Amino acid sequence: MPLAIPFDNAYARLPERFYVRMAPEPVAAPRLVKLNRPLADLMGLDADALESAEGVAMLAGNATPAGAAPLAAAYAGHQFGGWSPQLGDGRAILLGEVIGRDGVRRDIQLKGSGRTPFSRMGDGRAVLGPVLREYIVGEAMHALGVPTTRALAAVTTGEIVVRERPLPGAVLTRVAQSHIRVGTFQFFAARGDREAVKTLLDHAIARHYPEAADSPNPPLAFLEGVIARQAALIARWQALGFIHGVMNTDNMAISGETIDYGPCAFIDDHHPDRVFSSIDHGGRYAYANQPGIGQWNLVRLAQCLLPLIDEDDAKALDAAQAAIDGYIAAFETAWAAAFRAKLGLARAEEGDAALAADLLSRMAANGADFTLTFRRLRDASLSGPEDDAPLRALFADPAAFDAWADRWRARLARESDPAECRALMARANPVYIPRNHRVQEAIAAAEGAGDFAPFERLLAVLAEPFTPRDETAAYETPPRPEEVVRATFCGT
Ligand code: AMP
Ligand code: MG
Repeated sequence: MPLAIPFDNAYARLPERFYVRMAPEPVAAPRLVKLNRPLADLMGLDADALESAEGVAMLAGNATPAGAAPLAAAYAGHQFGGWSPQLGDGRAILLGEVIGRDGVRRDIQLKGSGRTPFSRMGDGRAVLGPVLREYIVGEAMHALGVPTTRALAAVTTGEIVVRERPLPGAVLTRVAQSHIRVGTFQFFAARGDREAVKTLLDHAIARHYPEAADSPNPPLAFLEGVIARQAALIARWQALGFIHGVMNTDNMAISGETIDYGPCAFIDDHHPDRVFSSIDHGGRYAYANQPGIGQWNLVRLAQCLLPLIDEDDAKALDAAQAAIDGYIAAFETAWAAAFRAKLGLARAEEGDAALAADLLSRMAANGADFTLTFRRLRDASLSGPEDDAPLRALFADPAAFDAWADRWRARLARESDPAECRALMARANPVYIPRNHRVQEAIAAAEGAGDFAPFERLLAVLAEPFTPRDETAAYETPPRPEEVVRATFCGT
């Protein structure tokens, strides 16, 4: 079936110094692992054509479809706090953009598509395990209602990629509202290329924050918009127990989507210091640090925009500082709203955030499973303490839960509509999250025996995360001690 992709490539119309035009590097023997048919449909793409040999050739980087304007984008970034003036797409190629049935413009990017001038020491390739992890977790986040990049497809390359051991190579087709990062602004700002920062800003405003164009100070309105979306996004992560793992400024998308799923994971037994990434030795990106790191990254963005916010340095700084200060309030509001919903509280009361924070600290002190605690609270909202056994069992010291539950029930009693409370909780507390041991199980089967059945099953379970199903109850439970995955490796 002929492949006709209605590309409309805005980024490729930006000046030449924003990227290097180049095609992906072909691979030996492409094989389709998975095509995301619902996403293809949403994007107005012909799913059957994408599954044809010609389609798979494109998804592997072996053929460039008509209308594509392939490029590797330039960006910089702070990695674990250290400045890297040049990162860029070292193993990714943006094929182009399409406008979907929903009117949304999306990038189509191949990740793992070979070396580029930005590869530095890397081989430009991706391995199957991290490709499947990104596919699974991105789709899970989407189903959970979290803004995220998504996987359109995964293919294996028929090539071996050497990491800590030889592993099967793969290419992920990633779809994002754009791949503009905080680090993209930093790339130009660090070079003193004010004109490029302005060009990038205009592009990003038109694409993601059109309302900012009508504001008296568009650069400031843009900054405020990015801050608002990041505050809301990171509050969603906290409410799900999601740990990104590599919140470098090059991994923070201007669109407000979660991007670059590397050593990310969901928490099982809760602890604020929880870290999974094997390279995060100091715990910089631990669960409890994510909100603060979000602000740190936004300060880096603000610095890039200062000269555009006001000609007068002091005025620019004041305005940017006020916007940055607003992050904390925006985050706290979003956090309180998310946790109020998790506790079934429809109205806001003074002590609600403290009540939620107290539960989290009791969970941490007692090794309670993050997702199961809130999932079981769904049921407990309609019953009394006499039926709390399943919840109490999650706490090393069940009395720690009892003391909290008394206060929670007293607070719930001040709500007027129990059905509404229950509905809130059912939408806020998932039954199924991509538990690390399940992700690992899917990866191991695919890598070892080429068996993609566990990957498919897990995707199907996670597509409907809020509805309990008897036949998939096993996916609710935390790992047994021997199944616990302590570290996830960086997405290279
Ligand atoms: P990441 O840790 O995936 O966010 O990537 C950080 C930087 O390293 C980006 O510039 C990537 O393009 C680059 N990079 C990561 N892995 C590879 C690889 N295998 N080959 C070339 N560049 C890579
Ligand atoms: Mg990255």
